[in-house]
Amino acid sequence: MSTKPHKIIIAIDGYSSCGKSTFAKAIAARLGYIFIDTGAMYRAVTLYALEHGAIRSGIVDEEEVVRLLKEIQITFRFNPERGASDIYVNGDRVEGKIRTIEVSNCVSAVSAIAEVREMLVRMQQEMGRRKGVVMDGRDIGTVVFPDAELKIFMTADPKVRAQRRYDELTAKGDKVSLEEIEQNVRDRDYQDMHRAISPLRQAEDAIVLDNSQMTVEEQMTWVMEQIEQRTVTI
Ligand code: C5P
Repeated sequence: MSTKPHKIIIAIDGYSSCGKSTFAKAIAARLGYIFIDTGAMYRAVTLYALEHGAIRSGIVDEEEVVRLLKEIQITFRFNPERGASDIYVNGDRVEGKIRTIEVSNCVSAVSAIAEVREMLVRMQQEMGRRKGVVMDGRDIGTVVFPDAELKIFMTADPKVRAQRRYDELTAKGDKVSLEEIEQNVRDRDYQDMHRAISPLRQAEDAIVLDNSQMTVEEQMTWVMEQIEQRTVTI
């Protein structure tokens, strides 16, 4: 008889800059699960499209993006320093380049393209096949893993979210304004909720976590209780 709890899939969806990835990463570290940041995958495709002329002056050439998809290979490699996996495109580490405001301003348009979603959702489903994953994004509980054992829908006050993203970017030395960040957060939420394919929405069986006033530690205490209720020791 084993005392090991069985592994589950934890799906974390929600609005932009709610701290989904920080939260998902902390859960994965606590449980020894794999953390997958699906936003990084959409950002990596967007970066590649920007660098290869498929986006000019903020206008996305959808046909060109679809054509480029054939030459994009996305991989992850664990980085012990970050305690998470770094994302690579065709063997190049792009982790540091995908979080700029330029990528943020174009990513929602790229992620609305059907072929982009098909390719990335297929990869995500393959990565979660053996369970034991914490995946964060916009459609994880609704489309990628509709049968996930635990679904969390994260939300927070847009001003709190903008401030967090601003602190993160300025700490890295990026020159951005708080207004520009807040506008980007609001625009992305709108675009992500109103796109035709897999729009951002709360799955019916998801539980809501509003972390406007919560520390990561408080969120961890809350989530560990939820996980305990869903993992049976066999
Ligand atoms: O999570 P993050 O803010 O890095 O995601 C960047 C963008 O990627 C989102 O605004 C959304 O347009 C897109 N995305 C998505 N589906 C996911 C994850 C991210 O459409 N599962």
